[in-house]
Amino acid sequence: MECTVDGLKKVRDNLDEEIVLRITKLDSKPGSVAGKICVTDGNEVMEAYASFRMANAISSWAIREKSLIKLIDYAFCEIDNKQVTHKERLIEYSPGKFVFSFDVVDIESSEIRVVSFGVVAKSLHSDIIQDKVYIFSGSGGIQPSKSQYTPFKSKWEILASKNMVYNIQPDDVGFPKIVLDRKTILEVSEMEPDTFVDVVGVVTLVGLTNVTCKDSGTLIKRRTLCLGDESGRSIDVCLWDSKAEEEGSKIYEKFERGEKQFLCVKGGKISEYNGRSISVIGASTVLLDVDLEIVASVRAWYSVTLDSTSFIHVTGSSGSNLAVRTTTISEMMGLNLKVMESSDTYRITANIRDIRIDNFSYPACTRVVNGRQCGKKVSSAGEDVWFCISCDSEIQEVDHKYALHVCIEDSSQYVWAIAFQEAARELVGLPAQDFASMRDENYDVFSAHLDAVRSKVYTLKVRCKLESYQDSEKMKFYIVGLDV
Ligand SMILES: [Zn+2]
Repeated sequence: MECTVDGLKKVRDNLDEEIVLRITKLDSKPGSVAGKICVTDGNEVMEAYASFRMANAISSWAIREKSLIKLIDYAFCEIDNKQVTHKERLIEYSPGKFVFSFDVVDIESSEIRVVSFGVVAKSLHSDIIQDKVYIFSGSGGIQPSKSQYTPFKSKWEILASKNMVYNIQPDDVGFPKIVLDRKTILEVSEMEPDTFVDVVGVVTLVGLTNVTCKDSGTLIKRRTLCLGDESGRSIDVCLWDSKAEEEGSKIYEKFERGEKQFLCVKGGKISEYNGRSISVIGASTVLLDVDLEIVASVRAWYSVTLDSTSFIHVTGSSGSNLAVRTTTISEMMGLNLKVMESSDTYRITANIRDIRIDNFSYPACTRVVNGRQCGKKVSSAGEDVWFCISCDSEIQEVDHKYALHVCIEDSSQYVWAIAFQEAARELVGLPAQDFASMRDENYDVFSAHLDAVRSKVYTLKVRCKLESYQDSEKMKFYIVGLDV
Protein backbone atom coordinates (compact mmCIF):
# COMPACT_ATOMS: atom_id res chain seq x y z
CA MET A 1 0.00 0.00 0.00
CA GLU A 2 1.33 3.44 -0.90
CA CYS A 3 0.36 6.94 0.02
CA THR A 4 -2.13 8.49 -2.36
CA VAL A 5 -0.60 11.13 -4.57
CA ASP A 6 -1.99 14.54 -3.58
CA GLY A 7 -3.91 12.80 -0.78
CA LEU A 8 -4.00 15.89 1.41
CA LYS A 9 -5.22 18.07 -1.40
CA LYS A 10 -8.01 15.55 -1.91
CA VAL A 11 -8.90 15.80 1.78
CA ARG A 12 -9.07 19.58 1.48
CA ASP A 13 -11.12 19.39 -1.69
CA ASN A 14 -13.62 17.18 0.07
CA LEU A 15 -13.30 14.49 -2.57
CA ASP A 16 -15.33 11.41 -1.97
CA GLU A 17 -12.70 8.79 -2.62
CA GLU A 18 -10.47 6.43 -0.74
CA ILE A 19 -7.07 7.83 0.11
CA VAL A 20 -4.04 6.43 1.92
CA LEU A 21 -1.91 8.60 4.21
CA ARG A 22 0.98 7.96 6.55
CA ILE A 23 0.64 8.95 10.19
CA THR A 24 3.64 10.91 11.40
CA LYS A 25 2.43 11.82 14.84
CA LEU A 26 -0.39 10.57 17.05
CA ASP A 27 -1.99 12.38 19.93
CA SER A 28 -5.06 10.46 20.87
CA LYS A 29 -5.83 8.66 24.08
CA PRO A 30 -7.85 5.47 23.92
CA GLY A 31 -11.48 6.36 24.57
CA SER A 32 -11.08 10.08 23.95
CA VAL A 33 -13.67 11.61 21.67
CA ALA A 34 -11.31 13.40 19.32
CA GLY A 35 -7.86 12.56 18.14
CA LYS A 36 -5.13 14.88 17.01
CA ILE A 37 -2.80 13.44 14.39
CA CYS A 38 -0.26 14.50 11.83
CA VAL A 39 -0.51 12.87 8.45
CA THR A 40 1.41 13.07 5.21
CA ASP A 41 0.86 12.02 1.65
CA GLY A 42 4.60 11.97 1.15
CA ASN A 43 4.51 15.46 -0.21
CA GLU A 44 3.06 17.72 2.47
CA VAL A 45 2.19 17.29 6.12
CA MET A 46 -1.07 18.23 7.76
CA GLU A 47 -1.74 18.53 11.45
CA ALA A 48 -5.35 17.67 12.00
CA TYR A 49 -8.11 16.77 14.35
CA ALA A 50 -9.63 13.48 13.46
CA SER A 51 -13.31 12.72 13.72
CA PHE A 52 -14.86 10.86 16.62
CA ARG A 53 -15.04 7.81 14.45
CA MET A 54 -11.45 8.12 13.40
CA ALA A 55 -10.32 8.63 16.99
CA ASN A 56 -12.04 5.41 17.97
CA ALA A 57 -10.44 3.62 15.08
CA ILE A 58 -7.06 4.95 16.06
CA SER A 59 -7.51 3.58 19.58
CA SER A 60 -8.96 0.26 18.60
CA TRP A 61 -6.75 -0.50 15.62
CA ALA A 62 -3.72 0.34 17.72
CA ILE A 63 -2.36 2.35 14.84
CA ARG A 64 1.15 3.52 15.51
CA GLU A 65 3.20 6.34 14.20
CA LYS A 66 4.65 5.74 10.74
CA SER A 67 1.89 3.33 9.82
CA LEU A 68 -0.31 3.87 6.82
CA ILE A 69 -4.01 4.49 7.17
CA LYS A 70 -6.61 3.95 4.55
CA LEU A 71 -9.31 6.55 4.71
CA ILE A 72 -12.65 6.47 3.01
CA ASP A 73 -14.92 8.37 5.33
CA TYR A 74 -12.23 10.73 6.48
CA ALA A 75 -12.66 13.87 8.46
CA PHE A 76 -9.94 16.31 9.25
CA CYS A 77 -9.78 19.78 10.54
CA GLU A 78 -6.58 21.57 9.89
CA ILE A 79 -5.13 23.67 12.64
CA ASP A 80 -4.35 26.62 10.52
CA ASN A 81 -4.95 30.27 9.86
CA LYS A 82 -8.50 30.79 8.82
CA GLN A 83 -10.47 33.87 7.93
CA VAL A 84 -14.01 34.26 9.14
CA THR A 85 -16.24 34.80 6.09
CA HIS A 86 -19.66 34.54 7.61
CA LYS A 87 -20.84 35.16 11.15
CA GLU A 88 -24.29 33.93 12.15
CA ARG A 89 -26.52 35.37 14.85
CA LEU A 90 -26.42 33.88 18.33
CA ILE A 91 -29.57 31.78 18.37
CA GLU A 92 -31.44 30.78 21.50
CA TYR A 93 -33.09 27.62 20.26
CA SER A 94 -34.82 26.89 23.53
CA PRO A 95 -34.73 28.86 26.79
CA GLY A 96 -31.15 29.21 28.00
CA LYS A 97 -29.78 27.08 25.15
CA PHE A 98 -27.63 28.78 22.56
CA VAL A 99 -26.07 27.87 19.26
CA PHE A 100 -23.66 29.98 17.27
CA SER A 101 -21.85 29.18 14.06
CA PHE A 102 -19.47 30.90 11.71
CA ASP A 103 -17.85 29.91 8.45
CA VAL A 104 -14.13 30.09 7.85
CA VAL A 105 -11.96 29.88 4.78
CA ASP A 106 -8.29 28.99 4.54
CA ILE A 107 -5.78 30.45 2.16
CA GLU A 108 -6.60 27.78 -0.42
CA SER A 109 -10.30 28.62 -0.41
CA SER A 110 -11.41 25.52 1.50
CA GLU A 111 -14.40 26.40 3.60
CA ILE A 112 -15.71 24.83 6.78
CA ARG A 113 -18.23 25.80 9.43
CA VAL A 114 -17.48 26.04 13.14
CA VAL A 115 -20.46 25.24 15.36
CA SER A 116 -20.68 25.90 19.08
CA PHE A 117 -23.24 25.51 21.82
CA GLY A 118 -23.96 26.94 25.27
CA VAL A 119 -21.28 29.03 26.99
CA VAL A 120 -18.83 28.33 24.15
CA ALA A 121 -21.39 29.78 21.74
CA LYS A 122 -21.81 32.91 23.83
CA SER A 123 -18.11 33.60 24.21
CA LEU A 124 -17.31 32.88 20.55
CA HIS A 125 -20.17 35.13 19.48
CA SER A 126 -18.77 38.05 21.45
CA ASP A 127 -15.15 37.44 20.37
CA ILE A 128 -15.21 36.38 16.74
CA ILE A 129 -15.09 39.22 14.23
CA GLN A 130 -16.10 38.72 10.64
CA ASP A 131 -13.32 39.16 8.04
CA LYS A 132 -10.56 38.65 10.64
CA VAL A 133 -7.95 35.90 10.51
CA TYR A 134 -7.52 33.48 13.41
CA ILE A 135 -5.48 30.47 14.34
CA PHE A 136 -7.74 27.88 15.89
CA SER A 137 -6.11 25.22 18.04
CA GLY A 138 -6.74 23.02 21.04
CA SER A 139 -9.17 20.18 21.22
CA GLY A 140 -12.32 20.22 19.19
CA GLY A 141 -14.37 17.65 17.43
CA ILE A 142 -15.73 17.11 13.99
CA GLN A 143 -19.23 16.16 12.99
CA PRO A 144 -20.93 15.61 9.64
CA SER A 145 -22.20 18.87 8.17
CA LYS A 146 -25.88 19.47 7.52
CA SER A 147 -26.12 20.09 3.82
CA GLN A 148 -29.52 21.78 4.05
CA TYR A 149 -27.97 24.59 6.10
CA THR A 150 -24.49 24.73 4.58
CA PRO A 151 -24.08 26.86 1.49
CA PHE A 152 -20.81 25.30 0.39
CA LYS A 153 -19.39 21.86 -0.22
CA SER A 154 -18.13 20.42 3.04
CA LYS A 155 -18.82 17.00 4.44
CA TRP A 156 -17.83 18.03 7.93
CA GLU A 157 -18.03 20.85 10.39
CA ILE A 158 -15.91 21.66 13.42
CA LEU A 159 -17.59 21.35 16.78
CA ALA A 160 -15.92 23.89 19.06
CA SER A 161 -15.24 22.79 22.62
CA LYS A 162 -14.42 25.04 25.53
CA ASN A 163 -10.77 24.03 25.18
CA MET A 164 -10.57 25.45 21.70
CA VAL A 165 -8.05 28.29 21.54
CA TYR A 166 -8.35 31.02 18.95
CA ASN A 167 -5.91 33.82 18.37
CA ILE A 168 -6.57 36.76 16.13
CA GLN A 169 -3.91 37.40 13.48
CA PRO A 170 -2.96 40.46 11.46
CA ASP A 171 -5.14 40.97 8.38
CA ASP A 172 -3.86 39.03 5.42
CA VAL A 173 -4.90 40.00 1.91
CA GLY A 174 -4.01 36.50 0.75
CA PHE A 175 -7.29 35.18 2.10
CA PRO A 176 -10.26 35.21 -0.25
CA LYS A 177 -12.97 37.66 0.87
CA ILE A 178 -15.59 35.24 -0.25
CA VAL A 179 -15.52 31.96 -2.15
CA LEU A 180 -18.08 31.94 -4.92
CA ASP A 181 -19.38 29.17 -7.07
CA ARG A 182 -21.18 31.68 -9.20
CA LYS A 183 -24.22 30.84 -11.29
CA THR A 184 -25.91 33.19 -13.75
CA ILE A 185 -29.53 34.07 -13.18
CA LEU A 186 -30.45 32.12 -16.28
CA GLU A 187 -28.86 29.04 -14.69
CA VAL A 188 -30.63 29.77 -11.40
CA SER A 189 -33.97 29.88 -13.19
CA GLU A 190 -33.40 26.29 -14.26
CA MET A 191 -32.15 24.91 -10.96
CA GLU A 192 -34.06 22.94 -8.34
CA PRO A 193 -35.74 24.83 -5.48
CA ASP A 194 -33.98 24.76 -2.10
CA THR A 195 -30.54 24.64 -3.73
CA PHE A 196 -27.95 27.07 -2.43
CA VAL A 197 -26.59 29.41 -5.10
CA ASP A 198 -24.06 32.19 -5.43
CA VAL A 199 -25.01 35.06 -7.73
CA VAL A 200 -23.50 38.38 -8.75
CA GLY A 201 -25.48 41.11 -10.47
CA VAL A 202 -26.61 44.68 -10.71
CA VAL A 203 -29.39 45.94 -8.43
CA THR A 204 -32.23 47.17 -10.64
CA LEU A 205 -34.95 47.76 -8.04
CA VAL A 206 -35.21 47.85 -4.25
CA GLY A 207 -38.44 47.63 -2.27
CA LEU A 208 -39.33 48.84 1.19
CA THR A 209 -39.35 46.54 4.19
CA ASN A 210 -42.59 44.62 4.63
CA VAL A 211 -43.74 42.52 7.51
CA THR A 212 -44.80 39.08 6.42
CA CYS A 213 -46.64 36.57 8.49
CA LYS A 214 -45.14 33.08 8.29
CA ASP A 215 -47.29 29.94 8.36
CA SER A 216 -46.24 29.52 11.98
CA GLY A 217 -47.85 32.87 12.80
CA THR A 218 -44.55 34.64 13.53
CA LEU A 219 -44.02 38.03 11.99
CA ILE A 220 -40.92 38.46 9.95
CA LYS A 221 -39.39 41.40 8.09
CA ARG A 222 -38.74 41.07 4.43
CA ARG A 223 -37.40 43.28 1.67
CA THR A 224 -37.33 42.38 -2.00
CA LEU A 225 -34.82 43.66 -4.48
CA CYS A 226 -34.26 42.79 -8.08
CA LEU A 227 -30.93 41.61 -9.46
CA GLY A 228 -29.94 41.34 -13.12
CA ASP A 229 -26.85 39.92 -14.79
CA GLU A 230 -25.25 39.38 -18.18
CA SER A 231 -27.41 36.33 -18.91
CA GLY A 232 -30.09 38.93 -19.68
CA ARG A 233 -32.27 37.71 -16.82
CA SER A 234 -33.31 39.31 -13.55
CA ILE A 235 -34.67 37.75 -10.39
CA ASP A 236 -36.30 38.77 -7.09
CA VAL A 237 -33.94 38.49 -4.13
CA CYS A 238 -35.70 38.45 -0.75
CA LEU A 239 -33.80 39.63 2.28
CA TRP A 240 -35.25 38.38 5.54
CA ASP A 241 -35.02 39.46 9.17
CA SER A 242 -32.01 41.55 10.11
CA LYS A 243 -30.70 41.42 6.54
CA ALA A 244 -33.85 43.23 5.34
CA GLU A 245 -33.08 45.99 7.82
CA GLU A 246 -29.31 46.28 7.84
CA GLU A 247 -27.94 45.34 4.42
CA GLY A 248 -31.36 46.12 2.92
CA SER A 249 -31.46 49.73 4.15
CA LYS A 250 -27.96 50.46 2.88
CA ILE A 251 -28.85 49.12 -0.56
CA TYR A 252 -32.11 51.05 -0.54
CA GLU A 253 -30.46 54.37 0.37
CA LYS A 254 -27.80 54.03 -2.30
CA PHE A 255 -30.43 53.02 -4.85
CA GLU A 256 -32.52 56.08 -3.99
CA ARG A 257 -29.46 58.25 -4.59
CA GLY A 258 -29.25 56.74 -8.06
CA GLU A 259 -26.03 54.82 -7.46
CA LYS A 260 -25.49 51.65 -9.45
CA GLN A 261 -24.78 48.81 -7.08
CA PHE A 262 -23.34 45.38 -7.68
CA LEU A 263 -24.33 42.70 -5.27
CA CYS A 264 -22.77 39.34 -4.41
CA VAL A 265 -25.00 36.81 -2.73
CA LYS A 266 -23.36 33.69 -1.42
CA GLY A 267 -25.56 30.86 -0.23
CA GLY A 268 -28.90 32.30 -1.30
CA LYS A 269 -31.59 29.64 -1.39
CA ILE A 270 -33.67 29.14 -4.50
CA SER A 271 -37.31 29.51 -3.73
CA GLU A 272 -40.08 28.28 -5.99
CA TYR A 273 -42.57 30.78 -4.68
CA ASN A 274 -44.10 32.69 -7.57
CA GLY A 275 -41.68 31.43 -10.18
CA ARG A 276 -38.04 31.43 -9.17
CA SER A 277 -36.66 33.81 -6.57
CA ILE A 278 -33.66 33.80 -4.23
CA SER A 279 -34.10 33.88 -0.47
CA VAL A 280 -31.29 35.45 1.55
CA ILE A 281 -31.42 33.61 4.84
CA GLY A 282 -29.26 33.42 7.97
CA ALA A 283 -26.66 31.22 6.32
CA SER A 284 -26.35 33.54 3.30
CA THR A 285 -23.76 36.27 2.91
CA VAL A 286 -24.47 39.54 1.12
CA LEU A 287 -21.62 41.74 -0.08
CA LEU A 288 -22.15 45.06 -1.78
CA ASP A 289 -19.69 46.51 -4.30
CA VAL A 290 -16.94 44.22 -3.14
CA ASP A 291 -13.54 44.31 -4.76
CA LEU A 292 -13.64 41.04 -6.71
CA GLU A 293 -12.72 40.18 -10.26
CA ILE A 294 -16.16 38.79 -11.02
CA VAL A 295 -17.85 41.96 -9.74
CA ALA A 296 -15.52 44.05 -11.90
CA SER A 297 -16.45 42.01 -14.95
CA VAL A 298 -20.21 42.33 -14.30
CA ARG A 299 -19.67 46.07 -13.80
CA ALA A 300 -17.75 46.30 -17.08
CA TRP A 301 -20.49 44.41 -18.88
CA TYR A 302 -23.15 46.67 -17.39
CA SER A 303 -21.30 49.86 -18.30
CA VAL A 304 -21.78 48.99 -21.97
CA THR A 305 -25.34 47.68 -21.61
CA LEU A 306 -26.74 50.34 -19.26
CA ASP A 307 -30.31 49.31 -19.78
CA SER A 308 -31.90 47.42 -16.93
CA THR A 309 -35.34 47.39 -18.51
CA SER A 310 -34.36 44.80 -21.06
CA PHE A 311 -33.94 42.01 -18.48
CA ILE A 312 -36.32 39.09 -18.69
CA HIS A 313 -37.63 38.71 -15.16
CA VAL A 314 -37.68 35.07 -14.01
CA THR A 315 -39.78 35.71 -10.90
CA GLY A 316 -43.55 35.95 -11.34
CA SER A 317 -45.24 39.29 -10.77
CA SER A 318 -43.52 41.01 -7.87
CA GLY A 319 -45.75 41.28 -4.87
CA SER A 320 -46.63 37.62 -5.31
CA ASN A 321 -50.08 37.22 -3.81
CA LEU A 322 -51.56 40.22 -5.54
CA ALA A 323 -54.55 39.01 -7.48
CA VAL A 324 -54.12 39.60 -11.20
CA ARG A 325 -57.82 39.79 -12.09
CA THR A 326 -61.30 38.76 -11.15
CA THR A 327 -62.62 35.53 -12.58
CA THR A 328 -65.09 32.75 -11.95
CA ILE A 329 -64.57 29.23 -10.65
CA SER A 330 -65.49 27.64 -13.94
CA GLU A 331 -63.08 29.89 -15.78
CA MET A 332 -60.32 28.85 -13.38
CA MET A 333 -61.18 25.20 -13.88
CA GLY A 334 -60.75 25.69 -17.59
CA LEU A 335 -57.17 26.90 -17.24
CA ASN A 336 -54.69 24.92 -19.19
CA LEU A 337 -51.82 24.21 -16.79
CA LYS A 338 -48.88 21.88 -16.99
CA VAL A 339 -48.28 19.42 -14.16
CA MET A 340 -46.87 21.17 -11.06
CA GLU A 341 -47.49 24.52 -12.67
CA SER A 342 -49.18 27.05 -10.48
CA SER A 343 -51.57 29.61 -11.90
CA ASP A 344 -51.57 33.33 -11.13
CA THR A 345 -53.60 34.41 -8.16
CA TYR A 346 -57.19 35.24 -9.12
CA ARG A 347 -59.90 37.12 -7.35
CA ILE A 348 -63.11 35.14 -6.99
CA THR A 349 -66.31 36.31 -5.38
CA ALA A 350 -67.89 33.28 -3.77
CA ASN A 351 -69.77 32.04 -0.79
CA ILE A 352 -68.85 29.07 1.31
CA ARG A 353 -71.04 26.10 0.64
CA ASP A 354 -69.39 23.75 3.08
CA ILE A 355 -66.46 23.36 5.45
CA ARG A 356 -64.93 20.04 6.40
CA ILE A 357 -64.99 19.97 10.18
CA ASP A 358 -63.58 16.58 11.11
CA ASN A 359 -60.01 17.15 10.11
CA PHE A 360 -59.19 20.81 9.57
CA SER A 361 -55.85 21.07 11.32
CA TYR A 362 -52.68 19.11 11.87
CA PRO A 363 -50.13 19.00 14.66
CA ALA A 364 -46.99 20.91 13.70
CA CYS A 365 -43.48 20.80 15.09
CA THR A 366 -42.64 23.64 17.50
CA ARG A 367 -38.88 23.18 17.47
CA VAL A 368 -36.91 26.26 16.56
CA VAL A 369 -34.45 25.54 13.78
CA ASN A 370 -32.07 28.34 12.77
CA GLY A 371 -34.16 30.84 14.65
CA ARG A 372 -37.46 29.81 13.11
CA GLN A 373 -40.12 27.34 13.94
CA CYS A 374 -39.80 24.04 12.02
CA GLY A 375 -43.58 23.85 11.51
CA LYS A 376 -43.62 20.46 9.74
CA LYS A 377 -46.38 17.99 10.38
CA VAL A 378 -45.58 15.60 13.22
CA SER A 379 -46.89 12.15 14.01
CA SER A 380 -48.00 10.82 17.35
CA ALA A 381 -45.40 8.74 19.19
CA GLY A 382 -47.37 7.93 22.32
CA GLU A 383 -49.27 9.99 24.83
CA ASP A 384 -48.23 13.67 24.66
CA VAL A 385 -45.15 12.74 22.64
CA TRP A 386 -44.74 13.51 18.96
CA PHE A 387 -42.13 12.76 16.37
CA CYS A 388 -40.91 15.16 13.71
CA ILE A 389 -39.27 13.44 10.73
CA SER A 390 -37.77 16.70 9.54
CA CYS A 391 -35.99 17.37 12.88
CA ASP A 392 -35.52 13.66 13.53
CA SER A 393 -36.54 14.13 17.14
CA GLU A 394 -39.30 13.68 19.66
CA ILE A 395 -41.14 16.76 20.78
CA GLN A 396 -43.48 17.35 23.69
CA GLU A 397 -45.38 20.37 22.45
CA VAL A 398 -47.17 20.92 19.18
CA ASP A 399 -48.86 23.76 17.39
CA HIS A 400 -52.10 23.25 15.53
CA LYS A 401 -52.10 24.50 11.99
CA TYR A 402 -54.91 24.81 9.53
CA ALA A 403 -55.37 22.74 6.41
CA LEU A 404 -58.98 23.75 6.02
CA HIS A 405 -61.00 22.21 3.23
CA VAL A 406 -63.63 24.61 2.05
CA CYS A 407 -66.19 24.19 -0.68
CA ILE A 408 -66.53 27.52 -2.45
CA GLU A 409 -69.34 28.38 -4.79
CA ASP A 410 -70.11 31.16 -7.22
CA SER A 411 -72.83 31.49 -9.83
CA SER A 412 -70.90 29.28 -12.23
CA GLN A 413 -69.81 26.28 -10.20
CA TYR A 414 -68.56 24.99 -6.86
CA VAL A 415 -65.24 23.40 -5.98
CA TRP A 416 -63.33 22.21 -2.93
CA ALA A 417 -60.29 24.31 -2.06
CA ILE A 418 -57.69 24.25 0.70
CA ALA A 419 -56.85 27.16 2.95
CA PHE A 420 -53.70 26.93 5.03
CA GLN A 421 -52.73 28.79 8.14
CA GLU A 422 -53.21 32.53 7.52
CA ALA A 423 -55.87 32.24 4.86
CA ALA A 424 -57.90 29.83 7.01
CA ARG A 425 -57.49 32.07 10.00
CA GLU A 426 -58.82 35.01 8.04
CA LEU A 427 -61.87 32.99 7.02
CA VAL A 428 -62.62 31.41 10.38
CA GLY A 429 -61.47 34.32 12.52
CA LEU A 430 -59.81 32.03 15.05
CA PRO A 431 -56.52 30.14 15.40
CA ALA A 432 -56.80 26.43 14.56
CA GLN A 433 -56.29 25.35 18.17
CA ASP A 434 -59.17 27.56 19.40
CA PHE A 435 -61.45 26.41 16.61
CA ALA A 436 -60.72 22.77 17.49
CA SER A 437 -61.32 23.38 21.19
CA MET A 438 -64.60 25.09 20.38
CA ARG A 439 -65.71 22.06 18.37
CA ASP A 440 -64.71 19.60 21.07
CA GLU A 441 -66.01 21.57 24.05
CA ASN A 442 -69.13 23.33 22.93
CA TYR A 443 -70.61 22.09 19.71
CA ASP A 444 -73.53 24.52 19.72
CA VAL A 445 -71.24 27.54 19.80
CA PHE A 446 -69.04 25.90 17.15
CA SER A 447 -72.02 25.24 14.93
CA ALA A 448 -73.26 28.84 15.26
CA HIS A 449 -69.77 30.08 14.41
CA LEU A 450 -69.72 27.90 11.29
CA ASP A 451 -73.11 29.26 10.22
CA ALA A 452 -71.75 32.78 10.56
CA VAL A 453 -68.73 31.93 8.41
CA ARG A 454 -70.99 30.35 5.81
CA SER A 455 -73.47 33.21 5.69
CA LYS A 456 -71.08 35.72 4.13
CA VAL A 457 -69.91 36.36 0.61
CA TYR A 458 -66.16 36.60 0.25
CA THR A 459 -63.72 38.00 -2.25
CA LEU A 460 -61.13 35.26 -2.19
CA LYS A 461 -57.66 35.16 -3.63
CA VAL A 462 -57.36 31.74 -5.22
CA ARG A 463 -54.69 30.02 -7.22
CA CYS A 464 -54.70 26.58 -8.69
CA LYS A 465 -52.12 23.99 -9.48
CA LEU A 466 -52.15 20.85 -11.55
CA GLU A 467 -50.85 18.06 -9.33
CA SER A 468 -50.16 14.49 -10.30
CA TYR A 469 -51.36 11.82 -7.95
CA GLN A 470 -51.04 8.08 -8.56
CA ASP A 471 -50.80 8.43 -12.35
CA SER A 472 -53.69 10.83 -12.58
CA GLU A 473 -53.68 14.59 -12.75
CA LYS A 474 -55.84 16.70 -10.54
CA MET A 475 -56.44 20.41 -10.41
CA LYS A 476 -56.07 21.60 -6.81
CA PHE A 477 -57.37 24.95 -5.57
CA TYR A 478 -55.75 27.00 -2.85
CA ILE A 479 -57.29 29.94 -1.05
CA VAL A 480 -54.32 32.19 -0.34
CA GLY A 481 -56.23 34.91 1.43
CA LEU A 482 -59.09 37.34 1.37
CA ASP A 483 -58.96 40.29 -0.97
CA VAL A 484 -59.82 43.33 1.07
ZN1 LIG B 1 -39.51 19.64 13.28
